[in-house]
Amino acid sequence: MVADLERSILQRLAAVDLRFTSGRRAIVDGLREAEGPVTLPELLDLVPRLAQSSAYRNLALMEEAGVVRRLVYSNDHARYELAESLTEHHHHLICESCGTVRDVQFDTKLERALDRTLEEVSAIEGFEVSRHAIDVFGICSGCAP
Ligand SMILES: [Zn+2]
Ligand SMILES: [Zn+2]
Repeated sequence: MVADLERSILQRLAAVDLRFTSGRRAIVDGLREAEGPVTLPELLDLVPRLAQSSAYRNLALMEEAGVVRRLVYSNDHARYELAESLTEHHHHLICESCGTVRDVQFDTKLERALDRTLEEVSAIEGFEVSRHAIDVFGICSGCAP
């Protein structure tokens, strides 16, 4: 595991008196390997050594510790990813047919244009933007006719 990532996770877990156990490491490995936020069954497929009994509780504890982010889209199981502060800024492409969620990164130019636009429209409401998260809904290539 990347040293910086490992250190950040250790710190966050230690702050809430949790150790970075092998079960929690397996979860982080699976989430890093995934191409987007995954459900628990998908995570178990990715990391066969993961025990289902402890995985759910560890995900909940790691969410509390700020290591894992839990996402819920309509008609879907909860999905999990590493907290964005531990990874890189990205957005989600959500397939409305199969429910798959894929990470997508926009280039710097588009991100800047997005920020500018969001700041402009938010300023009208006297709202100061600190960050954004964008979910894009549609049909994935696997489901497209
Ligand atoms: Zn799909
Ligand atoms: Zn963005």
